[in-house]
Amino acid sequence: MACSTNAFSLSLSSKSASDFNPNSSDFFLRVNKPAKVSLRGSSSGEFNPGRVALSRPSGLRGRICANATQVMDQSVGEKSSKVPTIVEVDLGTRSYPIYIGSGLLNQPELLQKHVHGKKVLVVTNTTIAPLYLDKVIDALTKGNPNVSVETVILPDGEKYKNMETLMKVFDKAIESRLDRKCTFVALGGGVIGDMCGFAAASFLRGVNFIQIPTTVMAQVDSSVGGKTGINHPLGKNLIGAFYQPQCVLVDTDTLDTLPDRELASGLAEVIKYGLIRDAEFFEWQEKNMEKLMARDPDAFAYAIKRSCENKAEVVSLDEKESGLRATLNLGHTFGHAIETGFGYGEWLHGEAVAAGTVMAVDMSYRLGWIDSSIVKRVNDILVRAKLPTAPPEIMTVEMFKSVMAVDKKVADGLLRLILLKGPLGNCVFTGEYDRKALDDTLKAFCKS
Ligand code: NAD
Repeated sequence: MACSTNAFSLSLSSKSASDFNPNSSDFFLRVNKPAKVSLRGSSSGEFNPGRVALSRPSGLRGRICANATQVMDQSVGEKSSKVPTIVEVDLGTRSYPIYIGSGLLNQPELLQKHVHGKKVLVVTNTTIAPLYLDKVIDALTKGNPNVSVETVILPDGEKYKNMETLMKVFDKAIESRLDRKCTFVALGGGVIGDMCGFAAASFLRGVNFIQIPTTVMAQVDSSVGGKTGINHPLGKNLIGAFYQPQCVLVDTDTLDTLPDRELASGLAEVIKYGLIRDAEFFEWQEKNMEKLMARDPDAFAYAIKRSCENKAEVVSLDEKESGLRATLNLGHTFGHAIETGFGYGEWLHGEAVAAGTVMAVDMSYRLGWIDSSIVKRVNDILVRAKLPTAPPEIMTVEMFKSVMAVDKKVADGLLRLILLKGPLGNCVFTGEYDRKALDDTLKAFCKS
């Protein structure tokens, strides 16, 4: 397989660097050289996007080529064009494109080519419907009179990401007599995407599904990779399915209406990619955090694209999370405990992940796996992104322990964690760590 000079190699190892055992509870991830990417589309004005193809390696340990038709440097300043950048999620017959760009909801052909059947159900919420629902209906129906669109508008919030709300989607689908050839469209943030995706996975045992993410969190993370589901009172995202969409359409203009706190929350996941596998991207964030906070469109386009590339690569290698994909959950085990213990919706997901990341980094340092400069850099960048660097005071050691005990990453009674190890950009997913370090971290961050 030919690789361009921009290709980078990805090493996975099960303790040694040579062979990856997906059933092992312990492996390392190292990116040797991050990919350079293109943000620039065609200058001809035709639909000829800069395409990034992520080649599927023949084995799990393989070389990934990230090819862009036009490659530019990573500085920001060039104006975004209306031509989408495309990142491909390479999953064989379930592969799909992520379209990223400004004004994409004004390009009906992008959406329409992924619609199956004549009936579409748009799932959204009470906040997003007044902002973008008409636009999405236009995009689905313009020049396409054979398609009829039903809508279901759910209450807004993480606390509604549950079975009762999910039933409203099924009620609407059944009342509207949707059949197996319909398409579900998720219009919203991660809550809507996760719920709509799970509804699509289970309605009539699976119908076509499209993601239109409208938060940073959803555009850089939750809409990509096919994890769908709902919460249970005892734990987050415990009920769900892996179910891939037909496409993800990221219209970056939708971020214009996103509240500042939500914007910052999404940046927690952007920072995560840098820490676990892409040191060069982390360094770029250190240079550009103020631009991101000021909503610089070019900085955002770059951050979304690079985040999607990182996620797409991981998902292509480990769709069902036998190991590698778990590394995307840096800080999430602690973070989920905060969300569950503190009450869904009190802290935003990214805020909980940010505090959880600080705890995971603290524990990595206590284990002697990283040096203190990384601890400082993580704290500094989270502060600049206006994200919390400690859990809420209400959290106790016992609250953390009881929620972490039902985490999905518990295997045979052993809690596996994603921890940083080695130079920036390296992490491990492991159950082999000194329990005292976990206890010490919990004690350091909790008053009781
Ligand atoms: P969210 O979906 O609750 O959206 C945040 C808020 O912003 C909501 O009030 C929403 O109505 C509003 N909003 C959305 N788009 C807007 C826009 N363009 N303008 C104005 N307001 C807008 O939260 P989120 O942070 O997007 O997602 C968090 C959820 O995602 C969590 O449930 C988390 O578990 C899940 N998640 C899933 C994955 C995955 O792989 N499936 C990954 C990460 C997170």
